Amino acid sequence: EAKEEKKNQIKIFNLELGRKAKRYIKFEEIIEEAIERNLFVFHYQPYFDIKSNKIGGFEALVRIRYKNKLYYPVDFISILENSPHLEKFEKWAVKEAVSKIKKWRKPVHINLSDRSFRRSNFIKIIEKYTKELEQPLILEIIERIYIKDIKKSRETIEKLRKCQNINIAIDDFGTGHSTLAYLKDFDVDMLKIDMSFIKEITVNRKTKALVEGIVHLARSLGLKTVAEGVEITEQLHILEDIGVDYVQGFLLSKPLPEEEIDKKFFDKIG
Ligand code: C2E
Ligand code: MG
Ligand code: MG
Ligand code: MG
Repeated sequence: EAKEEKKNQIKIFNLELGRKAKRYIKFEEIIEEAIERNLFVFHYQPYFDIKSNKIGGFEALVRIRYKNKLYYPVDFISILENSPHLEKFEKWAVKEAVSKIKKWRKPVHINLSDRSFRRSNFIKIIEKYTKELEQPLILEIIERIYIKDIKKSRETIEKLRKCQNINIAIDDFGTGHSTLAYLKDFDVDMLKIDMSFIKEITVNRKTKALVEGIVHLARSLGLKTVAEGVEITEQLHILEDIGVDYVQGFLLSKPLPEEEIDKKFFDKIG
């Protein structure tokens, strides 16, 4: 009987493996086409100054438009990152974000993959496309990336800092290891507090205290704070009390295609 069960487990395991491999191949193909035929699009999610309600900037979030379907980064970003097409994608992403900075006159954020952060060529792309901007291009880096090789990461961040018009934000802040300790080593501009904290902020006194601590620490270090994933007004009120600088989340706006941002937020400017 135990043997039979073992057999079944192996069967399921193999099935699962086959499915994963198929998925991988499918998305490799989609990525290839997306690169060739320009099927990448950014949706833009604004974040807002909590006091004035004004737009602080926009985060660019990538999607692939393929055969009338929209594919989200969870399905393809790690495959793209490990594909030979990463550099082409980086160029597209930087150019696209920069054109929106010029159009909307607001900071635009892009998310960096681990490999982009480590490639010296990426800095060249940045330098080439971000000259003479009125507002910064903000690079979002998750903690997991920069704590991998502290010495190298510090060098990279120093190089990026020397580029004009580049700011750096730590994304999903609080989810990595010994996050706070590393802040003294890295010269960054902004902390984006992970949505897992924001989710709990209304129900867990300790989480609220933690967020309060992060915001105060950030302020004394001269960093701006963004609360990610704000979905209900109760969270907004608490974050206002705590004194976070900016808020982002479905309550305020979902990520939207460029045309909808134009309509929704820049109508009056014309
Ligand atoms: P992220 O940078 O932390 O982005 C936030 C994610 O949460 C986005 O998902 C966004 O749509 C979603 N979100 C925003 N507000 C809310 C909210 O109130 N509630 C909930 N439940 N979710 C919210 P998305 O667009 O699927 O992106 C997922 C992740 O994929 C991003 O996490 C980022 O790490 C990565 N990513 C997105 N675009 C790019 C890109 O161009 N390059 C790279 N390397 N990574 C990207
Ligand atoms: Mg992000
Ligand atoms: Mg995030
Ligand atoms: Mg995230």
